[in-house]
Amino acid sequence: MHQALWQSVLGEIELSVSRATYMTWFKNTELLSNSDDGIVIAVPNIFAKRQFEVKFNDQVRDVLKKNGIVTERISYTVKMLNKKVITREVVQSEQAITSPSVATSSLMASPMPINGLNPRYTFANFIVGSSNDLAYTACQAVAANPGVKYNPLFLYGGVGLGKTHLMQAVGNEIVTNNPGAKVLYISSETFVKDFLESIRFKKKGFSDKYRNVDVLIIDDMQFIAGKEKTQEEFFHTFNALHQSNKQIIISSDKPPRSIPTLTERLRSRFEWGMAIDIQMPDFETRCAIVEAKSAQSNIELSRETVEYLANNIKTNIRELEGALNQLLAYAEMRGVTPDISTAEGLIGNVRRSRPQYVTSKQIIEKTARHFQIKTDEICSPKRDKHIVTPRQIAMYLLRSELHLSFPKIATELGRKDHTTAIHSVEKIEKAIKLDFLIREQVAEIREKLYA
Ligand code: ADP
Ligand code: MG
Repeated sequence: MHQALWQSVLGEIELSVSRATYMTWFKNTELLSNSDDGIVIAVPNIFAKRQFEVKFNDQVRDVLKKNGIVTERISYTVKMLNKKVITREVVQSEQAITSPSVATSSLMASPMPINGLNPRYTFANFIVGSSNDLAYTACQAVAANPGVKYNPLFLYGGVGLGKTHLMQAVGNEIVTNNPGAKVLYISSETFVKDFLESIRFKKKGFSDKYRNVDVLIIDDMQFIAGKEKTQEEFFHTFNALHQSNKQIIISSDKPPRSIPTLTERLRSRFEWGMAIDIQMPDFETRCAIVEAKSAQSNIELSRETVEYLANNIKTNIRELEGALNQLLAYAEMRGVTPDISTAEGLIGNVRRSRPQYVTSKQIIEKTARHFQIKTDEICSPKRDKHIVTPRQIAMYLLRSELHLSFPKIATELGRKDHTTAIHSVEKIEKAIKLDFLIREQVAEIREKLYA
């Protein structure tokens, strides 16, 4: 009974708000009770609760009234979705768990559809600045006329700069304009995995899945590099799609010519279309992003707070978003204003407290554990490759996290000669720039250090 009433309320609301608003705020709500004391609506988290109280309350009341429920008292209560559902969503949508806000909205969005698109990524909520306007324009052109211009469209740039967001926005826009369009978004890792499984278990359907689409979006192409058989398969998929004027969109951390283990023929295919880079946004754009994201949570930050965040977080948008969410969540929890002093306290604290929490012993142990080798092996004279790289990474972390001197680093790892330490640190510094896997591994260990 509640169910049906609420479905009809939602149906009406869906028609009057944007799709993004509906998906983000209304989709996972429920009518919990309807009595003389009023109406209680369950929402998935505290951000949604606030949003409903401040922004959507009148609208909800109006639509309820149209459906024959007249009440003055509407209250909103947080009710988590059941855990199983959450885990499944998180696993399915790998790119949707990278920042707190994403995690929040992935709790609210429906489970990821088969096409891999997440409705939270749209052109409308993408802030354009000089660092990404070319990419944005090209993506819009592709969304308007898939398969016609810029085929393939190749986006490249560092992590957290909006590649996934833009590619997903293209997919969402195409599906919105033409619900029958077959769009498939996947990470190249999924492609690799699918391909290997299709060979190993002689599974059918691999070609169909990838070749019967109108738009194929492959994210993080760098994972395919070096895997020759998979590249060959991708080459054929590419040709099949391209010949029938199907749109292909690819992203990677580097331009095609700088992916060292990409086969020559794939590289040249990628250069047929358009390759565009996305860079770190400038200060003004970073401010605009902070403003837009806080407005989405219905919070207006002072200009100095916005500037403080934009000034202090220059690495990438994902971290900027993370810092903002941390600030908003903290302020909400403590009941304080998310102003510059709260921001300073939080961001300054994170920085100051870091070195106090790790020791060289922890760095060495956690690195060894990450690579599943023993601590005494990493400190031993052994030169096996599966030990050497972890050892070099441990040295690199001792330098980057604790700023130890090279002789000290050498001693920590049982080395007499400090030039080994210098060499190792330099090697990993370089590898981080060139090798996505090393970069990921270092990031993972670093995360574990401060977990
Ligand atoms: P990448 O795929 O390049 O690593 P993402 O697309 O995952 O980066 O972006 C990281 C986060 O930053 C996402 O939550 C995304 O929505 C957000 N983001 C990136 N660029 C912008 C932008 N220009 N405007 C708004 N949000 C952005
Ligand atoms: Mg991405």
